[in-house]
Amino acid sequence: MSTLMAASRDASWYDCPDTTTVKVMHVARVYELDDTVWSARCNRRTPLDETVSRPAEEVPAGLRCQRRGCRELWPAEAARS
Ligand SMILES: [Zn+2]
Repeated sequence: MSTLMAASRDASWYDCPDTTTVKVMHVARVYELDDTVWSARCNRRTPLDETVSRPAEEVPAGLRCQRRGCRELWPAEAARS
């Protein structure tokens, strides 16, 4: 069973990556042929940084991408202890 993963956008392409603000997490699409290539479900041209990935169910609602493609894939939030 595969776990639905989420990751934030890879900002390394930008001249001035904004690493201070909280980033929106996208549901990740991981290409099976090469699992190092991740992109966002809402836009396959949006690269994601797999180094900050986490299970989608652990992403707080406030950080979840609400664009079509990601929005309908988010699982229920994991219960907090
Ligand atoms: Zn998204």
